[in-house]
Amino acid sequence: VLMATVKGDVHDIGKNIVGVVLGCNGYDIVDLGVMVPAEKILQTAIDEKCDIIGLSGLITPSLDEMVFVAKEMQRKGFTIPLLIGGATTSKAHTAVKIDPQYSNDAVIYVADASRAVGVATTLLSKEMRGDFITEHRAEYAKIRERLANKQPKAAKLSYAESVENGFKIDDHYVPPKPNALGTQVIKNYPLEALVPYFDWTPFFISWSLAGKFPKILEDEVVGEAATDLYNQAQAMLKDIIENNRFDARAVFGLYPAQRTAADTVSVFDENAQSVTHTFEHVRQQSDKVTGKPNLSLADFIKPTTTQQDYLGGFTVSIFGAEELANEYKAKGDDYSAILVQSLADRFAEAFAEHLHERIRKEFWGYKADETLDNEALIKEKYVGIRPAPGYPACPEHSEKAVLFDWLGSEEKIGTKLTEHFAMMPPSSVSGFYYSHPESEYFNVGKIAQDQLEDYAKRKGWTLDEAKRWLAPNLDDSIG
Ligand code: SAH
Repeated sequence: VLMATVKGDVHDIGKNIVGVVLGCNGYDIVDLGVMVPAEKILQTAIDEKCDIIGLSGLITPSLDEMVFVAKEMQRKGFTIPLLIGGATTSKAHTAVKIDPQYSNDAVIYVADASRAVGVATTLLSKEMRGDFITEHRAEYAKIRERLANKQPKAAKLSYAESVENGFKIDDHYVPPKPNALGTQVIKNYPLEALVPYFDWTPFFISWSLAGKFPKILEDEVVGEAATDLYNQAQAMLKDIIENNRFDARAVFGLYPAQRTAADTVSVFDENAQSVTHTFEHVRQQSDKVTGKPNLSLADFIKPTTTQQDYLGGFTVSIFGAEELANEYKAKGDDYSAILVQSLADRFAEAFAEHLHERIRKEFWGYKADETLDNEALIKEKYVGIRPAPGYPACPEHSEKAVLFDWLGSEEKIGTKLTEHFAMMPPSSVSGFYYSHPESEYFNVGKIAQDQLEDYAKRKGWTLDEAKRWLAPNLDDSIG
């Protein structure tokens, strides 16, 4: 079985778990790792005489890349099954976009690692594969039909009306001035200071164990497995902290900012003299319940400079995880290698949470007296937000390039972006800081042609480029 995370993407915990599970069940795994171009996947499948290709990906641009791999398999006359998995993939996307591209053999969406063995075994069984593939084809055809017949869920307001119905900051509101304007760099942050900020629930999800922490440890079905995993994680945490196995780095900046157009936020140098970078945002365009604004992240920054507003940005990364994981792999301990990766992800998220708290209390200082426990932090009870490009309030990934340039993330701490704007090392978090008390996380959802055209113009893109990067947000009326 060939396994690969597609070009432009770096996330592979899920893929690695599938690899271990299949390996334990007697399958030979050819794991090509991350950022693998279609050509290499297909050539390796030929050279190694693979019986199945499995593709994985986490960020939305990977969806397109998987469609491309399927097309190439068809063009080159492959006759082996294609398995699809990873966070942004879905049965619907597989049915509508991937399955129609490859008709020579099966295309199967694998929802989680526990199903991989069943699917692989069935597909390799001469007796069972025929019915299995026929059933899947029928199911995917039904999904396509259902989606095609659905009332087009168009964005109902025009872009101009949506802007008109945006959130408006009170004219009298005076934004708090940061205590520490400019950019700061942190390296080798004390790891033990981050552990109290761990959110363990996503840790178990990454291991396909569903349930809220700490209740999951007592769960009737998965409690024993979860407790085992948790104990091993604690032992490894101890080693990581005592032996400084990870280097937690951060770069963050706080600068004067202004909303310079409907959906544009410009940031200035420390003295608010000249614009250094410009962020383009996407606005909710759906017809709202009366009284609810059509939000854009630009709304939470003042459009004037008479009362100066500010925007923050950050990148945090955990370095050292790949090296430690490779040490375990070299000893044949793939399980511990995955545990390293999943703990590095926890450290990155915890660092993002902890640094955000220090921003509010100290570096920006607009909530110096905040006292929230970790549960409240996980529930996002804090004032202000740290939205991340590629997530629902700012879904377009290429803005990460502007953010990285603004902060100097690559030069200062060594965090890089792939051609599809995935961050390397993979245990990284980046985003903006907003302080406005009414700023909130929201979902942009579907946009229409008018906003697409406006966004393309603002980014200096052709319409096709804009369509590609905004693909998950285009409504059904856009061809
Ligand atoms: N506690 C979780 C992380 C939760 S969400 C964990 O440890 O894994 C992670 C981050 O996603 C948030 O901190 C925020 O930066 C971002 N985020 C969440 N919802 C968002 C939204 N609607 N738009 C943009 N970013 C969002």
